[in-house]
Amino acid sequence: MDADIVIVGAGIVGLASAYKLAEAGRSVLLIDRKGMAEETSRGNAGAFAFSDIMPLATKDVLRKLPKWLSDPLGPLTIRPEYLAQITPWMMRFWRAGWPDRVAAGIKAQSALMRVARHEMDALVQSAGLANLVRSDGVLELYESEGELRAAQPEIDAKTREGIEISVVRGDELCALQPGIDPRFVVGTFVPKWQTVSDPYDFALAIGKAATNRGVAFRQADVKDLRPVGAGVTVAFADGSSLRANKVVVASGAWSRALTAPLGDLIPLDTERGYNTTLPPGAFDLKRQLVFPGHGFVVTSLSTGVRIGGAVEFGGLSLPPNFKRSDAMLKKAAMFMPGLKTEGGKQWMGFRPSLPDSLPAIGRSRPSPHILYAFGHGHLGLTQSAATGKLIAELVTGATPSLDLTPFSPQRF
Ligand SMILES: Cc1cc2nc3c(=O)[nH]c(=O)nc-3n(C[C@H](O)[C@H](O)[C@H](O)COP(=O)(O)OP(=O)(O)OC[C@H]3O[C@@H](n4cnc5c(N)ncnc54)[C@H](O)[C@@H]3O)c2cc1C
Repeated sequence: MDADIVIVGAGIVGLASAYKLAEAGRSVLLIDRKGMAEETSRGNAGAFAFSDIMPLATKDVLRKLPKWLSDPLGPLTIRPEYLAQITPWMMRFWRAGWPDRVAAGIKAQSALMRVARHEMDALVQSAGLANLVRSDGVLELYESEGELRAAQPEIDAKTREGIEISVVRGDELCALQPGIDPRFVVGTFVPKWQTVSDPYDFALAIGKAATNRGVAFRQADVKDLRPVGAGVTVAFADGSSLRANKVVVASGAWSRALTAPLGDLIPLDTERGYNTTLPPGAFDLKRQLVFPGHGFVVTSLSTGVRIGGAVEFGGLSLPPNFKRSDAMLKKAAMFMPGLKTEGGKQWMGFRPSLPDSLPAIGRSRPSPHILYAFGHGHLGLTQSAATGKLIAELVTGATPSLDLTPFSPQRF
């Protein structure tokens, strides 16, 4: 064998998996065609969103969908050129919004989030990254009591799962974040939500910690995976290949190119997200803010104030439409009077998304030596350490920390 474990993809999921496997004493070769955290994991909103247990497809979202879809720069859009391709995914998404599926999804996501919090705490401690994590909670802001009432099922579900969440108004709301437009009359506050100083710096720090534990990194484009005996042949775009005992596909939104030829037809697509990062000091932000009615968040990072979110279905190859970043920035300036909007940098990333909002974590159909770790959608940073831990358990033959049935890559 040329390698023990190969991980394809050095986004946050591949990096955390490499770290956890190295911690378990395995020898790891991490491969990425671009470098460490150069894609989606580079520019996200930086939240450990442990309380985000709701699937994206809920009654509330499905109700808002027609209005959102009619606004080309609204919180959720489909690029017309991509409509035919995304329709089967959308059908599954709609089905995922039925009450029985939502209830099962909340249960599965909550179980994964419990492992996520525990494993992220452990990773942060063991890799010495505590100085990159802020623990000041998240404030969600609503424009009316009616909007809050519509969010009540979500608040109730979180409370049932033991998540600390409170409704705030008046002085209490103003104290959590001064300087917000008075149209926001009520909010919810989750104190145990955390954010990282910058997602790129955080990912690179995990990469460094993994390298210190012996993980090797190679920049290369993987074209094909083939099960061979008790191992796997990894073929590269330059025509070379290597043999590994086990391969982990952690290739984010691009994973389907490697899994489909293996016969695993997983409905992975991408929810493209946009943001603008303004220079540090653009607003005196006390903590992360979420504007749920408008589909964006505002985060204070060491590298600036990041404003973004939104969901755009447009596949992997259509060019970005940065009018979406402009639209969110314009709204943020209205909602946060005093925001200095000059000097921003725009970015788009590819969330790797499955229609039921749960990731695929498990073995491939044709071979127990090929494992999958992708499809984390809006939550890849949050769930990266847990996914790494679960992958390490599958690789080493240990009992997984949670029942992996709801995350089976073959569940569709
Ligand atoms: C606007 C926005 C905000 C977000 N905010 C948050 C947040 O606050 N909290 C949170 O938890 N999540 C958030 N997310 C989601 C999060 O960013 C993703 O879930 C996460 O980055 C996915 O990580 P990944 O490692 O699976 O994929 P990626 O980071 O995309 O990494 C995949 C890697 O695989 C490599 N690759 C692909 N194919 C091949 C191949 N054939 N050969 C070699 N290399 C290959 C790519 O080059 C890439 O580096 C956000 C996303 C967006 C877009």
